[in-house]
Amino acid sequence: MLRMPLSGRTSGRQISLGGSGDTKDKLLIGGLGLVIVAAIVGLVWSITGKHDIGPKIPDSFHLGCIACNKEWDISKDDYYARMRELGEHETGIPNFLCPFCKDARKTGFVMSQCPYADCGKYYFSNQVLRFIGKPTTEPQMCPVCKRDIMAGLRLKATKK
Ligand SMILES: [Zn+2]
Ligand SMILES: [Zn+2]
Repeated sequence: MLRMPLSGRTSGRQISLGGSGDTKDKLLIGGLGLVIVAAIVGLVWSITGKHDIGPKIPDSFHLGCIACNKEWDISKDDYYARMRELGEHETGIPNFLCPFCKDARKTGFVMSQCPYADCGKYYFSNQVLRFIGKPTTEPQMCPVCKRDIMAGLRLKATKK
């Protein structure tokens, strides 16, 4: 008599499981991969870290609330904690809970500082304005002293 492979109880299932050793190996390989990646990143960091490349990460961020217009500072740790909360794939602009009006929509956004030394007031960059659906100007002007932001930044860069 022929035994049909698909007939009767499915007794053949156990065969395909492969055992736990296989999974352990995969975990081990995965773990080693992470260690190697971390080592490479560390190496690159140690080589490039000594040179000042790119913009310096500030120690704190100045935030403004679009609901109550209050301003306050947060530490970079709080800033990155919120970024992590939003997730790595979040491409929008991070919003923060305003400690003053505590608007549930989280209406606090990072503000930029006017590059002109005699002004130095904070404003929302065009990026933020676009994100919150507010009108922007090109080139962007400081809303307080009404001067060209980009021109101010260039001026500041050449002074150093
Ligand atoms: Zn507020
Ligand atoms: Zn200004």
